[in-house]
Amino acid sequence: MISGHKNKYRPTIGLEIHTELNTKTKMFCRCKNDPDEKRPNVNICPVCLGHPGTLPVINEEAVRKVIRTGIATNCRISEHPRFDRKNYFYPDLPKNYQISQLYQPLCKNGFLDIEGKKVRIREIHLEEDVGKLIHRGEYSLVDFNRAGVPLMELVTEPDITSGKEARRFAEELKLIIRYLDVSQADMEKGEMRVEVNISLSDKKVLGTKVEIKNLNSFRAVEGAVDYEIKRQRKILESGKDVIQETRGWDSARGVTFSQREKEEANDYRYFPEPDLPPLHITKDFVKRLEADIPELPYQKRKRFQKEYGLGEKSIEIFARNKEFADYFEETMSELREWVKEVDMKREVKKEEFFRLAKLCANYLISDLKSLLKEGSMSDVLITPENFAEFITLIYDGKISSKMAKMILEEMFLSGEDPSHIIREKKLKQITDAEEIERIIREVISENPKPVKDFREGRENALQFLIGQVMSKTEGKASPAIVGKILKQLLREDKP
Ligand code: ADP
Ligand code: MG
Ligand code: ZN
Repeated sequence: MISGHKNKYRPTIGLEIHTELNTKTKMFCRCKNDPDEKRPNVNICPVCLGHPGTLPVINEEAVRKVIRTGIATNCRISEHPRFDRKNYFYPDLPKNYQISQLYQPLCKNGFLDIEGKKVRIREIHLEEDVGKLIHRGEYSLVDFNRAGVPLMELVTEPDITSGKEARRFAEELKLIIRYLDVSQADMEKGEMRVEVNISLSDKKVLGTKVEIKNLNSFRAVEGAVDYEIKRQRKILESGKDVIQETRGWDSARGVTFSQREKEEANDYRYFPEPDLPPLHITKDFVKRLEADIPELPYQKRKRFQKEYGLGEKSIEIFARNKEFADYFEETMSELREWVKEVDMKREVKKEEFFRLAKLCANYLISDLKSLLKEGSMSDVLITPENFAEFITLIYDGKISSKMAKMILEEMFLSGEDPSHIIREKKLKQITDAEEIERIIREVISENPKPVKDFREGRENALQFLIGQVMSKTEGKASPAIVGKILKQLLREDKP
């Protein structure tokens, strides 16, 4: 029976994402915008404390940052954005209204491509953050350092259908915001805050939505959505109705819990902020901002695919780590020159270049990264030039992968170039066939049992013998050459 189908109820999800901008000063006054300030109520003034008679002044840098985000997320930029007052009474808001944007937000109708699917963005607007309340049992303290900090709010259309998609959207937005230097958007620090709206329905019209707040990690976003889908599905399948409410997320138990049911519809009595003029954003202004947008993560992914032929996983690591990506590209430009020099007459073949790129990406992402531990790329002593040389040595089979690890460690510690290290440590690969043959003969005579096994057709005995040769040469022989000569000798000298 179709109506009993498990997925009769389709989930619909929309996100509201707040981001604190990293401007020098607050949104409407000259107080420092310093999220790291530990002392309470230091960065405050009559404007952000809402004293009567004070007047706000718009922070142009904040406006630029929101428009930059709008451009990067394919939004239309409003020509005449305005600010509005959102009135409510709460101790973290000394003015008793928040300056926000309701009627004419800065950006409208954008989208982001999330794994091949368009998730539409309804709007991005600019508002001010509120103070922090610290509850101490009987009483509460208030810190206004954060009051009046520029806050960007992005609202999506309800186009998302799973926890993973919600998470990917939020992650992609954070990445873009970081590329644009609009904010660090660290969720743990509350610089980026995601609210999830979610409903299930088996009809065309959307169902009753639940809002989940206080999600302070991407994992929490995904977990809360997935849990909520299950919870609402159960309710609907048992013939009951979902209650419209705000829920919180208990990350330890992995469940959402009711915080408050919808009271009377909020009436914020929005009206145009009389103390601020409507803005006029000219086409020219937008053009200049457009020209200043750096390469964005989605553009970088495409280019890395086309230019270096890397796999999705490596590309994603580079897209998320600018320092790594830059180092990789500098190394690759050295390698491009190297391939040209090796054979002047020949055009650099694409496949060859792609193979070098893959090798380079792997050594960078796994080996160098693990040496680096939590450190930053800027602490690395190895120049891209030396790293490129190191890659060519592996590529040409001049050093085994075992030697490569030792050499890289040495390079990492001293910053020396690889050929220097090889000379110093006499690490050069033994490629001299006679020398290798001599060692192989030794191994054959010392290991009669595996030799016999191999000759009787047990091929895996060969690996053991190769291993013996490698250990006698301290890893300096090329395993490929060893294998070849070993096979020859075992077949020829058959008694
Ligand atoms: P409200 O007025 O209650 O704040 P909005 O229409 O402003 O609701 O939408 C807020 C967010 O909730 C948007 O991201 C929107 O896409 C999403 N949303 C709206 N209705 C639903 C629904 N029925 N189910 C899921 N998400 C919804
Ligand atoms: Mg809303
Ligand atoms: Zn101030």
